[in-house]
Amino acid sequence: MGYPVTYHCPHCGTLVELDRDGYLSDKAVTPYPFEGWEYADPDEPFEDGAADGVAFVCGESPSPADEDAADDEGCGARFYLSFVRFENGREIDPRRADTDGERVELAEDGGPESPRGPDGTDGPSGPTGGFY
Ligand SMILES: [Zn+2]
Repeated sequence: MGYPVTYHCPHCGTLVELDRDGYLSDKAVTPYPFEGWEYADPDEPFEDGAADGVAFVCGESPSPADEDAADDEGCGARFYLSFVRFENGREIDPRRADTDGERVELAEDGGPESPRGPDGTDGPSGPTGGFY
């Protein structure tokens, strides 16, 4: 059941692996959680509405198959896989989760997809995986 999906740590680019059933839609991988999302650990139930995302710790791979490879990789930072959430048939945008249908321009709050996050850019990043 499920199949492995890999994600890049947004801090250092290390790959982590997660078994997925495949019917939840990924929204984004970010170095910090979305407000209002509930995150599970990778070894906790998260599919089927149990959580809104998964909180990884870079370098702590949940996959036993990667034991030998994971020892010397990873930066130890937390990062977050967020699933797409829907409410009343509409996708929830974490950047304007508190608005009710009104379009609000948030230009300076450093949203999840901002290229200049609070952490700055710490090195070259590979392909982000294209979850957006
Ligand atoms: Zn990392």
